Amino acid sequence: MKAANSTAELLSSDFKVGILGGGQLGKMLVLAANNWDLQTWVLDQSADFPAGPVARHFVEGSFKDEADVYAFGQQVDVLTIEIEHVNTDALLRLQREGVLIHPRPEALVTIKDKGLQKQFYAAQDISTAPFQLYADKAAVHAALDSGQLRLPFVQKSRTAGYDGRGVAVIRESADLEKLLPGPCVIEDLVDIEKEIAVVVARNADGQVACYPAVEMEFNPEANLVEFLFCPAALTSEQTAACEALACRTIEAYDICGLLAVELFLTRQGEIWVNEVAPRTHNSGHHSIDACQTSQFEQQLRAILNLPLGSTALHAPAVMVNLLGAPGHTGPVRCEGLADALAIEGSHLHLYGKKMTKPFRKMGHATVVDTDLERAKSKARQLLQTLKITAP
Ligand code: ADP
Repeated sequence: MKAANSTAELLSSDFKVGILGGGQLGKMLVLAANNWDLQTWVLDQSADFPAGPVARHFVEGSFKDEADVYAFGQQVDVLTIEIEHVNTDALLRLQREGVLIHPRPEALVTIKDKGLQKQFYAAQDISTAPFQLYADKAAVHAALDSGQLRLPFVQKSRTAGYDGRGVAVIRESADLEKLLPGPCVIEDLVDIEKEIAVVVARNADGQVACYPAVEMEFNPEANLVEFLFCPAALTSEQTAACEALACRTIEAYDICGLLAVELFLTRQGEIWVNEVAPRTHNSGHHSIDACQTSQFEQQLRAILNLPLGSTALHAPAVMVNLLGAPGHTGPVRCEGLADALAIEGSHLHLYGKKMTKPFRKMGHATVVDTDLERAKSKARQLLQTLKITAP
């Protein structure tokens, strides 16, 4: 096992970067590593997953399985992740045995559990929505009956959620049937003005670099994120406060690598951390085409203790997820590709997933334009042009 200290050593042909997870984030991380001819080893269930065809070595196994992660970790020089829901017992053991792991497994243990995450923010004095923890649905009902808890609130599954699936918004009694089973966090329903994300990087030398804040814009009819745009429409004071909070959060976790910090800007003017992801993130995808350094290259720089790259934005950018079209399940067909590429400033990233299904994330597109409003209308046009369907 080698310590990743010098660039010359890293670029030697036998240095291995291990990645837990072979989905689209793993694929894009491998593509960045390929630019430097770094050896990438990826662990996931199938070499048919997005990172399979581009990784130097693909190991079939589960990143949730202790034995698989342990055996995989022993073969690489530095171990990183594209997903936080990995087996941390194996990582803690590998770390004790001297394997370099970024982000550090103790931080992953906290982040994987939304209850521990919230307690961490409270302990570190990092502003977040007021919350309480409950063991299960029955405990939530009991708290309501005793008057200890009042409507409205937001319930989040401590460990089972992603992409909004482990979140129930309970506004009135009729919504109580939506309560999720299992241990949960109950948060105050926040009066959100804007949802912001800041991706921040940190290396072992302690260098920290923040990407410009990104704003999520919701479709008012569907109440779904329509697109992410950068720069966010914030005052310079708000931008500085968001960036400072993101930097303080990565320092508090003592993470080397990336941290995507999701923030709520409340109508009362507060800035609260909603949750974090200790890796590359949807809200950093525009960096591939619109920033000096992509978030994927930045993750490599951060975990290898290389100088962090500039996060400066070349031009305003809008990122849209390309989701599987409703009503289509099966092998992927991309309709309207040529017309989408004809939109000036459009950049397509298709993940190479073999099968599409309704609303599955199949790729993303970034539109770069000197004018943000024009970029938004081009992004809307692109979404109407490009359809991921099944024949
Ligand atoms: P996930 O990890 O599944 O993405 P989040 O915690 O990000 O879950 O919540 C998903 C969405 O639910 C947020 O983007 C936000 O729109 C809404 N949400 C989450 N927490 C709250 C809250 N306390 N008050 C109001 N809305 C919330």
